[in-house]
Amino acid sequence: MSTRLEEQTRAEIVEAGRRMYARGYVASNDGNISARLDESRILTTPKSVSKGFMTPDMMVIVDYEGQKLSGDRDASSELPMHLEIYRNRPDVNAVVHAHPPLATGFAVAGIPLTRAVLAEVVTTLGSIPIAEYGTPSTAELPAAVRKYIKAHDGLLLANHGAVTCCRTVMTAYYKMETIEHFAKISLVARLLGREHLISREEVERLQGLRGMYGIAAPAPLCADPSELAATDQILCQVLEAPEAGSARLVPDDATSSRLLPDVATSSRLVPDVATSSRRVPDVAATLRQASRDGEIRLTYGELTALIADAVKNLRE
Ligand SMILES: [Zn+2]
Repeated sequence: MSTRLEEQTRAEIVEAGRRMYARGYVASNDGNISARLDESRILTTPKSVSKGFMTPDMMVIVDYEGQKLSGDRDASSELPMHLEIYRNRPDVNAVVHAHPPLATGFAVAGIPLTRAVLAEVVTTLGSIPIAEYGTPSTAELPAAVRKYIKAHDGLLLANHGAVTCCRTVMTAYYKMETIEHFAKISLVARLLGREHLISREEVERLQGLRGMYGIAAPAPLCADPSELAATDQILCQVLEAPEAGSARLVPDDATSSRLLPDVATSSRLVPDVATSSRRVPDVAATLRQASRDGEIRLTYGELTALIADAVKNLRE
């Protein structure tokens, strides 16, 4: 018999699926959502159905071993990943899995979202690592997720997508929104050429505010991230946040941005473009910019002007 809680949970899953599809986090019949009903039953989305057009009666009820208890349809083949999360996280009541394109792009590129750059992400999720690739629908995927899930409410899945968990269906869904929004902002910042990281001191302050907003901390920051390599199951978070002094010194102009910590500059996709409107290169100034290793730094404008000048000289 359907209780009021069950009806409400069915409706929440329908709504989260509708939003997930509307926002383009899934294509076709991708993605899945589940929620605990009680200590012996889980409500989950059916396989082979667009998550944008579900109705409450489509849901499947399974036990914690994944055996179907009721429902006309079959549960998603990714159910074992959900069950693994429930086993490892007694505090969690809902799991959302999707393939949001920007976050999945990071997962495909092998770039985790572990830099402290947005206050709300530091507060709600902390870091978002990448669980190693596992063939979908096999035991590999739950095993990959198991390694990180005790310390994280949100994970990227290598060459696949993302998964989030929280106390309710909607809060788990919102974490998925936060991950995709964060991925979008991170991509823009990296295309622009730099990311100013929030200091470790500020990160600790932000995480200390979690209680005020009723946000449960997934895990503390790791004291020594190098120890994690040998760990079977990670119990703390690695977040790239420099010590207060270096973060405060992060400058805003192109030249001195070379003082940024390696972590903030290592993966630039494009070089800085100086604001200078000079058309003809100032060779003396360029040479003065040569760094100690003999590298000459040119802005995009200066390089273009040099090439244009060389082509002009060839013609003359
Ligand atoms: Zn998937």
